[in-house]
Amino acid sequence: MNRRQTIPKHLRLTINDFNRRFPDDDACLEAIKEMRFADGYAPCEKCQQQRKHHRVTGRPAYACDYCGSMISPMAGTIFEKSSTSLRLWFYAMYLMSSTRCGISAKQIQRETGVTYKTAWRMFRQIRSLLSEGDMQLEGPATVEIDEMYVGGTTKRLGAIPKPKTTVVGAVERKGGRVIARVAPDATKPTLHGFIKEYVLPGSVLFTDEHPSYEGIEGPHYRHYRVRHSGRVYVTGSRGQIHTQTIEGFWSLVKRGIGGVYHSVSTKYLQSYLDEYSFRYNRREKGNLIFNDVLERVSERVGSPLAAAVHQNPVSQEDAF
Ligand SMILES: [Zn+2]
Repeated sequence: MNRRQTIPKHLRLTINDFNRRFPDDDACLEAIKEMRFADGYAPCEKCQQQRKHHRVTGRPAYACDYCGSMISPMAGTIFEKSSTSLRLWFYAMYLMSSTRCGISAKQIQRETGVTYKTAWRMFRQIRSLLSEGDMQLEGPATVEIDEMYVGGTTKRLGAIPKPKTTVVGAVERKGGRVIARVAPDATKPTLHGFIKEYVLPGSVLFTDEHPSYEGIEGPHYRHYRVRHSGRVYVTGSRGQIHTQTIEGFWSLVKRGIGGVYHSVSTKYLQSYLDEYSFRYNRREKGNLIFNDVLERVSERVGSPLAAAVHQNPVSQEDAF
């Protein structure tokens, strides 16, 4: 699928743009530093305060202008323990955010020339940035809710068929943001629980005829159901009552599972859904989504800035 040509020019980040912006590892390191240390200021552990820092020649580190203690902008990020060049990391992030259907670890291996093991690790790390677990739909809104079922079939004769995995999703019609979650089942408590957790009271819900949605109508939600059988609509305003938006998202996800990842184990299904939701929720941004992924690198920092320097094989004294 060639989506790139349909992206408006101002939302395009071409490979030439990417190469100009990130010509080498240093440019990537500088970009991370800019995100993490505003105006070059960062907390110095020794001085116990914010200090201006400068680049240390020949090392991916910055030193306190006052005492010389070093920090690494990569500390606590997904790049911290990696020996892969930063530029290849950035390129993999660019690839994962530039296509609507995403790319696989295998494609990262092909495009970057790293081993499959390394490509797989990069892929997992980059994807870990893309979850939107704490997101709630803004509202009250008009929301389509639907469930879909993934996997579960086996072609091997005599093999015990695995149960299908249930996924529940909600999408706003206006604004069109999506939330998709792996669910234990499609029972009434599960589906009602999902709706109450992610959909604000006062919203109007559209679902199909699945009996588990029964009873959600009440003081908090208005509820319309689509009769798929025979295309008969429950109430008057015909065009309104459908779940085509969420069905469109499911088909995107299913195409991806079939075409890109071939199959997804239940273990990775949620992170796969997260990646798809992340891109879907930013589809107005064209492939400038890359910038959002880059921002996530500094937003999802796990450990203190000083950590990486201590793990560095070169001692601090060597640099002076
Ligand atoms: Zn200092």
